[in-house]
Amino acid sequence: MSRVKLVSPFAGWCLPLAEVPDPVFAGAMAGDGVAIDPTGDTLCAPCDGEIVSMQGARHAVTVRSDSGVDILMHVGIDTVNLKGAGFELLVSPGGRVKQGAPMLRIDLDKLARTAPSLVTPVVLASEGRVLARARPGPIAVGEFLMEVEGVAAKAAPGAAPAQLLRRFRVPFDHGLHVRPAALIASALRPFASDVTFIARGREGSARSTVAMMSLGVHCGETIEVRVVGADAAAALAALEPLLAPEMPAAVQKEVEKPRKVPADSGRLEGVIASRGVAVGVAARWAQEEFEVEERGTNVASDTATLRNAIAFVKDYLEGLAALATGEAQQLLLAHAELVQDPELARRAADSIASGKSAGFAWRDATRAMADSLSKLDDARMRERASDLRDLESQVIRVLLGELPVARKELPANAIVLADDLLPSQFMALDTPRLAGLCLARGGATSHVSIIAAANGIPTLVAVGPGVLEIADGTPVVLDAEHGWIDVDPPAPELAAAQRAALQRAAERAADLEAAQNPASTRDGVRITVNANVGSVDEARAAVRSGAEGCGLLRTEFLFLDRRAPPTEDEQSDEYARIASALEGKPLTIRTMDVGGDKPIAYLPMPREDNPALGLRGVRASLWRPELLRAQLTAILRVQPHGQCKVMLPMVNDLEDLRTVRAIAAECAREMKRATLPSIGVMVETPAAAVMADQLASEADFLSIGTNDLSQYTLAIDRGHSELADKLDALHPAVLRMIRTVAAAGQANGKSVSVCGAMGSDVDALPFLIGLGVHEISATAAMIPRLKRTIRLLDAAECRELARRALALQSASAVRELALLARGRARASAEST
Ligand code: PEP
Ligand code: MG
Repeated sequence: MSRVKLVSPFAGWCLPLAEVPDPVFAGAMAGDGVAIDPTGDTLCAPCDGEIVSMQGARHAVTVRSDSGVDILMHVGIDTVNLKGAGFELLVSPGGRVKQGAPMLRIDLDKLARTAPSLVTPVVLASEGRVLARARPGPIAVGEFLMEVEGVAAKAAPGAAPAQLLRRFRVPFDHGLHVRPAALIASALRPFASDVTFIARGREGSARSTVAMMSLGVHCGETIEVRVVGADAAAALAALEPLLAPEMPAAVQKEVEKPRKVPADSGRLEGVIASRGVAVGVAARWAQEEFEVEERGTNVASDTATLRNAIAFVKDYLEGLAALATGEAQQLLLAHAELVQDPELARRAADSIASGKSAGFAWRDATRAMADSLSKLDDARMRERASDLRDLESQVIRVLLGELPVARKELPANAIVLADDLLPSQFMALDTPRLAGLCLARGGATSHVSIIAAANGIPTLVAVGPGVLEIADGTPVVLDAEHGWIDVDPPAPELAAAQRAALQRAAERAADLEAAQNPASTRDGVRITVNANVGSVDEARAAVRSGAEGCGLLRTEFLFLDRRAPPTEDEQSDEYARIASALEGKPLTIRTMDVGGDKPIAYLPMPREDNPALGLRGVRASLWRPELLRAQLTAILRVQPHGQCKVMLPMVNDLEDLRTVRAIAAECAREMKRATLPSIGVMVETPAAAVMADQLASEADFLSIGTNDLSQYTLAIDRGHSELADKLDALHPAVLRMIRTVAAAGQANGKSVSVCGAMGSDVDALPFLIGLGVHEISATAAMIPRLKRTIRLLDAAECRELARRALALQSASAVRELALLARGRARASAEST
């Protein structure tokens, strides 16, 4: 047994291994150790020894200490793909090195641009354990990194040794390099047998990542595996899924870039709609198809049967709506209206009159209407087409004697996989068993995404059609923190994901406990955390989650798809209920944001070629000022007067604000009210962002709607599933807009909040704080975690981080920086 003290091979920031953005290293499958996020460009020897392995791509070096301990340094993540570009060798493989001697020079800029991460794990690659390690924080070359102890290999006491030999073909694209080797070593850990790989006339222990790598085996080569020991058969069986030629995908997903391809196993990437990690089994959701009789019985009875079925569905949906909240409730009500649509009824009646059955006539009518709607360029109308398909099956189910929406029975820990889901379909899921949601299509800010987020269900969208090919019951890990789903992962990974999920659940419980306290950064900058709310129940949930108020009440969700506009009384009552649910905390009421992708039945709009650029937000309100007046008066009536603020969506310039303020002043005069509430504007268009100095001079507050601001700045429709991964509020162009707005707020002494989905994104927080945003409004379920993240951050470091982000060229480069920031925040927390 031998002890070795190792020094840091890089200048940089020392991190716990668990922070490495790669499950193989983070789960210590390649060995225990620490990681360094390098700031220096030279990798030096951590101890005196010999270079026993230098990967062909020069990205991974192993030094064997004079006492026989192997230390692997893997520069960056996925750097094997760079095939040596950006790495300059300063020593020769096989040569001796003195502690601190330069071994490898890296082109930091190039790697930062081309590799997913520069974080470098430094791990004990031979048998042994780590005795001590450096605390997280800055580290220089030559400073203490860790102390390790090499131990003798395991023996199998009292067991009769057996010897087995088997040949395998190596399936890994880059050969037997570090990550597959680490997985193999990890899979063998539970077994006592000696496992040896034999190739090219040499042998290497399969317990040692380095020994396996040293064989230099390429993809497709055949190796012989010798297993000796009492549990030889079991050890060999553990190797089979990793090495058998017919099953490369399970491991290849670890060693290759994620692909958007159909697969029974492997990794599929998507867009994060609601954060979290879920480990469970695949449960596919598909729209049912029913057989219906074409010929009717007689016109009178078919007409009556269909009328009754429609009435049943309407009542059923209204009943569900009474139990639902927020947007889900509004969509159920919308469907209850749509199922009674007179045009549908007329078409069905014509069909019955021509001798068709009730079911056939209904299907004909809904499909004909859905088909013509789906051909229109208008996104709102296309959305209605899928609603109609949903209603088609609901009515037919009733005609067949079933309930309208099949309650989808789910296995425990179900990860539901679907093409897209409507809120009614989401609601019919067996939610206590629902662990996660993964959609082939959809956008991160679509209706079902917002509802899933409000329910705290980890969700990925725009994953592509491959997700629909995963068989029911397949084990999956839905990682909606990194944006991928792993299908049928190897057992060690599944176990690591399960451990991580348990740890997260414990963290969530602790976060909730701390969430009632205000949150400040480590250097004392106070950040206000409000909630986005769409109903009374959501307001209650917000308070329970630690919200300091409501930063955005989406009032259009309260009365969406009513046939008649809500009266002033109805509005006032609803606002008062929400104000009281907030227990006196501030309530920011946004005037109705209709139009665009939020059509509203009682406010038919003229046909527009491009509704997103048309009559929406405050423009729609000014187009129908009588509705705006009713809404402003309803808000003015809410007691106590100081609790409510008014916020205007889609403002472009001061003229919008002044016009609404004048109308509000008239309403107040008529009510003999002396004071007006605070009136603020949302910054959702590039025009508003660049004119923020003017807006801030007159508005009482500003709130950045990053969903729309990103959509308009990047010119990407927020519902577009093909482009969903490009629509990222962390794009430097959007960050520059936010910087302008935050600076305008500061110069005019006005608060600037962020209430788009970016405000719920923990990775965006450091940038927002660094850009000068000290208030956010988020999904209630995210508030506890956001508060914890704030407490880990340092505002001065955030400013530096934001400065770096503004100079980057893409959203993905900013995301990379965010990952680093996350590691640093955790590391500082651990060191204090
Ligand atoms: C936004 O655009 O960021 C926003 C908060 O408004 P909505 O998502 O309701 O359009
Ligand atoms: Mg908006």
